Parts: sequence; C-alpha cells; structure tokens
Amino acid sequence: MGKCPICKVEPSQEMHKPFCSKRCADIDLHRWLGGTYAIPAVEPPDDFDAEMEAALHEIDTPDEIH
Ligand SMILES: [Zn+2]
Repeated sequence: MGKCPICKVEPSQEMHKPFCSKRCADIDLHRWLGGTYAIPAVEPPDDFDAEMEAALHEIDTPDEIH
C-alpha cells in the first residue's frame, strides 16, 4: 500500500494507516477541520446591531426635533 500522505514515510504502525503516526493523522484531520472553520458561517452580530440602531435613530429623529 501507499506511504503516509503527510510526510511520505512508509507507515510502520498498522493502527495509524494510511498515516505513519497519530501525529500525521491529526495533521490531516486539522487540515480538513481548518478548511471548514476558516470560513465564518454567520456575520458578526456587532455589525447587525449597529445597523439596527442606525435605523431606529432615523425613525426617532423627527419626533425629537418636534
Ligand atoms: Zn507521516
């Protein structure tokens, strides 16, 4: 079979195949997780609150002038 896809070393421990060690298996796992979590799923809530506050101020302003 193949070599470790991370460091290209022949796996010596059967339990970690196709990786040569748990360390390389973890590196591969983190690559997948890192790619997923690098993109934020939701917008930062601070921006949304600021826009809502600005919209509310626009509505309130005419009443305050009177
Ligand atoms: Zn390796």
